[in-house]
Amino acid sequence: MSHCLQRAGIDHVVLERRNTIVRPNGASINLWPQGLRLMEQLGCFSGTPTVVSPLFRQIIERHGYGFLVIDREKLMRIIYDHLPSQSYVRGGCSVVHIDEDKTGVKVHLEDGSVEVGDIVVGADGVNSVVRRAMWTIANDRSPGTFSEKEQQTLNTTYKCLFGTCTPPARSVSGEMTQTHNDRFSFLTLTQPTRVYFFVFIKLPKARRWPDRPKYNSHDAELEASKYMACRINEKLTFGDLWSNKLWFYLTPLEEGVFKQWHWGRIALVGDSAHKMTPNLAFGANSAMESVAALSNGLNRALKNQSDSTLSREQISMVFQDYQEKRMGRVTKVHDFTGGFTRVSAWDGLLNKFMALWVLPIASHEFVGDKFSRLIRGGVKLDYVPYKESRSGSVHWDDESRENAGGKGKLTSVTLVSVLVVCLGLGALIRWLFWIFMS
Ligand SMILES: Cc1cc2nc3c(=O)[nH]c(=O)nc-3n(C[C@H](O)[C@H](O)[C@H](O)COP(=O)(O)OP(=O)(O)OC[C@H]3O[C@@H](n4cnc5c(N)ncnc54)[C@H](O)[C@@H]3O)c2cc1C
Repeated sequence: MSHCLQRAGIDHVVLERRNTIVRPNGASINLWPQGLRLMEQLGCFSGTPTVVSPLFRQIIERHGYGFLVIDREKLMRIIYDHLPSQSYVRGGCSVVHIDEDKTGVKVHLEDGSVEVGDIVVGADGVNSVVRRAMWTIANDRSPGTFSEKEQQTLNTTYKCLFGTCTPPARSVSGEMTQTHNDRFSFLTLTQPTRVYFFVFIKLPKARRWPDRPKYNSHDAELEASKYMACRINEKLTFGDLWSNKLWFYLTPLEEGVFKQWHWGRIALVGDSAHKMTPNLAFGANSAMESVAALSNGLNRALKNQSDSTLSREQISMVFQDYQEKRMGRVTKVHDFTGGFTRVSAWDGLLNKFMALWVLPIASHEFVGDKFSRLIRGGVKLDYVPYKESRSGSVHWDDESRENAGGKGKLTSVTLVSVLVVCLGLGALIRWLFWIFMS
């Protein structure tokens, strides 16, 4: 967010609860082309991704950018080191309370100090204090603004055991594997010196916010012990990875897109507004897009008037426009990744059918089309120059037609969809035949 605001010349302060901005973290993060394009626009990315599965080779051909697998700590370091100025970012600042009125906002920190400003943007994750403060202020002033139902939007149906290990013998660098199973699935991403592994596990009972499970490292070890003999591919078991582990963590996977992301002078971006399962690595990519969309709106509103501040009404309009621009796309991505989580874990008969009968016959081209449809709608900043240095066969939705030149649309998808539906029906008939005959 600071990258975007600094480039728009908007004064701000980033208040981070933790003392160190770039903190040691064993986890990985993966970025899709839309995230990498934004990173490149901000001067934070110029490398070549290393995952080389057929799907990702296709993604590079289509979009010019690939799929980046990187340590979270490394990504944070890159983003932080490339800030035009780091003086806007302050660690050790835990937000505990917010006041909002016609004239501005006051953000109260744990140490008793207060920050004053025109707006607050809550990029503070799934447990957002800003979101809670927004609900409280709004409902105090106008009861029922945020209904009980809206406040319970997030549900937790899955948990994720994830970690990092050194590559066991027989692992292949650059490989990505997905292994589907009954109520759980594996994802592994192998890099030259690390394997990043994920086990997505269905909970016995779904929970609705604010009820959510909490886990410690003992729970994680116990969970891991259930999967030791399970295969993650033809050569390796989960136990092979676990015995090389360097780091692991067990976390609940909340899901949900809130209906209202702003009120008065307060807005939400990222997981505080839209939280999705991480199977397809769209959460942070979506958070980055929301930040870009909100920054575009703020920059446009400020550039369109002589005064350097916006009224509360103008701010509300910018926030509403941002929400409207993002809601459809975020919901689509949320549903797509949530659906994939369920197919991978054979969650119900239809999902099991999809996993066992439809997915295996889906061509790489078909799967590539599905992802391209999401990728090409990515958001970039409309006020920072962007020179397209990597071209792919699919144009971005925000590219002008003239710039798109001879680039193609995803014309193959209808034909392939029809084919898959036909084959799927064939499989369904075979499947029903098998059920009735056995
Ligand atoms: C296992 C797993 C794997 C994932 N892998 C991927 C992936 O490969 N690709 C991808 O795109 N997404 C991935 N995601 C999703 C991604 O991590 C999130 O969508 C993303 O981090 C959301 O960013 P955010 O800034 O909204 O929230 P967070 O990343 O949660 O950041 C919130 C920040 O706010 C700070 N904060 C919180 N409360 C306060 C407070 N009161 N005062 C001050 N500061 C505060 C926190 O310390 C933190 O720094 C994954 C998620 C999980 C669980």
